[in-house]
Amino acid sequence: MYRTSDVPDHPTRQCPGCFRTLVVGSPNFHQDSLCADGFTRKCADCRNEAERIRYSLEAPQRARAKRERRAERRAHFESTGHYEAA
Ligand SMILES: [Zn+2]
Repeated sequence: MYRTSDVPDHPTRQCPGCFRTLVVGSPNFHQDSLCADGFTRKCADCRNEAERIRYSLEAPQRARAKRERRAERRAHFESTGHYEAA
């Protein structure tokens, strides 16, 4: 917990991702209860960008998992003649 004398009315933080200095709090930073002051270290824009990249990097994995599920269902259908939703 901060003593009020330690913090200005609108504490700011420099984002380590884009090096902009922004007022800590919504909408500049996402809330995160694990962080010391309740907000993420990186700004919301950087978090969103990182999430977008992560999602796109995982696209091949999602496509492969989908193919595998389809193959399993097809094999099941061909062996039994019954289609069962997965
Ligand atoms: Zn940033």
